[in-house]
Amino acid sequence: MFWVGFRFYDSVGFLNDLIECVGRTCAGLADKRRGKNAQFSMRDIGLAAFSPFFMQCPSFLSHQRQMCAGIGHGRSNCQTLLGMEHIPSDNHIRAMLDDVEPSSLFEPFDDALAALETAGALPSLTSLGGHTLIALDGTQYFCSNKLSCRNCSTRKHANGQIDYFHTVVAASIVKPGKTWVLPLRPEFVEPQQGYDKQDCESRAARRWLALNASRYCRLNPVYLGDDIYSKQPVCEEVLAAGAHFLFVCKPDSHKTIAEYLTGVEVPSRSRKIKRGKKYFNYTWRWMLGLPIRDGKDALDINWLEITIRDSNGKTNYRNSFITDLPVGADNVEHLAAAARARWKIENETFNTLKTKGYNLEHNFGHGKNNLSAVLVTFNLIAFAIHLAAELAETEWKAAIEIAGSRVRFFDNLRALTAYILFPSWDSLLKTLAFQLPPPLPS
Ligand SMILES: [Zn+2]
Repeated sequence: MFWVGFRFYDSVGFLNDLIECVGRTCAGLADKRRGKNAQFSMRDIGLAAFSPFFMQCPSFLSHQRQMCAGIGHGRSNCQTLLGMEHIPSDNHIRAMLDDVEPSSLFEPFDDALAALETAGALPSLTSLGGHTLIALDGTQYFCSNKLSCRNCSTRKHANGQIDYFHTVVAASIVKPGKTWVLPLRPEFVEPQQGYDKQDCESRAARRWLALNASRYCRLNPVYLGDDIYSKQPVCEEVLAAGAHFLFVCKPDSHKTIAEYLTGVEVPSRSRKIKRGKKYFNYTWRWMLGLPIRDGKDALDINWLEITIRDSNGKTNYRNSFITDLPVGADNVEHLAAAARARWKIENETFNTLKTKGYNLEHNFGHGKNNLSAVLVTFNLIAFAIHLAAELAETEWKAAIEIAGSRVRFFDNLRALTAYILFPSWDSLLKTLAFQLPPPLPS
């Protein structure tokens, strides 16, 4: 089991510390109010917006308001679990957070990673013999033809209809064979009318690298990305940061590479692998020192490909990649597995973000300026802390194991916190793990 050998925290100090990091960051947010009209602190306002994501419950705040007014006698799980003083209204939260710059909320991403490092959990994040795989992926997280804000991107259809949308380049640590991702600082695609998604995403990705690559250098990262990343400018940006890349490379969009591979003998190896009850034939091919594009200044890259065929010889999957890392018979299989781990971002992070009955803007709406990006940031921070807790917080891990899955863990957490006031995370997680009975009303 991958967590063996960690220095576990004895209590839920790890989790409380990370929630406090979010509180501290929110306390430092710019407050646009003037005078004495400040019943609710920015800390309470930020934590309130964070809480539905962290508890995976869109109606968390409304349950806690009812608890406060009823059996809680002025207290709720907002106070005991999140360290809030008061619960602001959804309208107030929306109004106060709409002008907040999303980047002023990014510190908890660093805090979650640092906490994992301190807890000795970093080895659980590494791949390819000491590297960390950081997947970059642009995802549209909002689209409407009615609602819009100042920072929406737009897209005009042939029939004149205009789509308003938001896209974020999410960066996450991934690992082959693991069902989790650890979100890092994101970068929002700036509204730029007239550019298509790919141009914008590529620019945002380069902006991300310029802003963040040195921050994550200590992780010895290998950056993963889809075909729009495997262009010379992005590759150069990665190399300039002293890091490595392993990007999808489609033949259609890399004609020079495709030409070099045509009609030549390419090294390869094959292996039969059993998946479920069926056998599949895996073939890897690779080639070193190809120019990424036409022209004298073209960067030299190494190319690899994986093909999976079923027992009838039908191709089930094929993809090719480029990298600056050495490729050979000894590591091509691991490199292909690492490159494919990128899909986890979509499967794990954004499907959870968009589906599972959870509407991102359920409580607070879209806002006029930054609200949409602020809410996505809180959601990603919640994911980061969930994963950190799963890797390094004994009580959290035990509660998930007892529940049988993360989904059921959150189902139970949602149900219990709607009706019972827990004095602490220790009490809640031990109740979820059947180690303690639920607390009696005080
Ligand atoms: Zn918008």
